[in-house]
Amino acid sequence: MDFLSIVVPCYNEEESVTMFLDDIQKTLVAFDYEVIFINDGSSDSTLEIIRNLADSNPNVKYISFSRNFGKESAIYAGLINATGNLVCVMDADLQHPPNLLPEMIEAISEGYDVAAAKRVSKKGEPAVNKLGSRFFYKLFNAVSSLNLVEGATDFRVMTRQVSDAVLELSEYNRFSKGIFQWVGFETKWIEYENVKRVAGDSTWSIWQLFKYSIEAIVAFTTVPLSISIFLGAIISVLAFIYLAFIVVKYLIYSDPVQGFATTMCTILLLGGIQLLSIGILGKYLEKTYKETKNRPIFIVKETNINDE
Ligand code: UDP
Ligand code: MG
Repeated sequence: MDFLSIVVPCYNEEESVTMFLDDIQKTLVAFDYEVIFINDGSSDSTLEIIRNLADSNPNVKYISFSRNFGKESAIYAGLINATGNLVCVMDADLQHPPNLLPEMIEAISEGYDVAAAKRVSKKGEPAVNKLGSRFFYKLFNAVSSLNLVEGATDFRVMTRQVSDAVLELSEYNRFSKGIFQWVGFETKWIEYENVKRVAGDSTWSIWQLFKYSIEAIVAFTTVPLSISIFLGAIISVLAFIYLAFIVVKYLIYSDPVQGFATTMCTILLLGGIQLLSIGILGKYLEKTYKETKNRPIFIVKETNINDE
């Protein structure tokens, strides 16, 4: 008999968790499961609510972080503590519809290693977000060797084998979408229409999404470094040709060298490209620095796991 561990990162989800658990209970009457709530340093009463749910329901486990470590860290903590032979990751805000779960579990029993949800529409989201996300997928897939599926979510059921593989990538900079894709395995994509949050607000601003995209790219490809080299090489060649051109012009036609504007443009262009390249280099250095410090991905303050 299958046992499903459901990993649920929660950040200020006081209005959602109870509804979430209700839905799960209704959907999974025929299954054995545990729900692992990870309270990611919420500042509202999420923890108290989860604690109460755990007191009255033996299927509910929780882990509470000492502060906000981010969704990716919460997922990692949940996966480490999942005991099921099937492991599921899903959001607390019911944007990941629990009624897809039976179909996902079914797909695994058909022989797939992973059953993952894919949003087919982004109804109800601002146009900038849609455009930005489309651009991100195009860019990411162009520069990395991974092929992210557009609309793919973190919502998935996987076998223990896949979950263990994900845990082997114990890096500090965790971009889950990339990690899930990187480990491979046979995935069945299950499509669904975008759902609005039941309560609260998404914590993502445009600026955060932008930063997240940069992190994702830096975490999974070093192509930007090669682009710097490529740009540098092209500019050097062009500069050399231009130099030869000026020398010849001076020697043969005795044309005096002129052009303040040209000089300014060149200096500014080169300065810009140099700063950009240093920035790219710096980004990789930053990531390397953070990885080498080997800090824990999360710190647990309180949990009911291993209580018995
Ligand atoms: N979340 C988290 N830590 C954070 C931010 C979000 O654990 O720092 C959780 C949040 O409670 C939710 C899930 O991650 O269960 C997705 O967050 P959100 O709904 O804000 O993101 P979106 O659905 O817009 O991608
Ligand atoms: Mg959400």
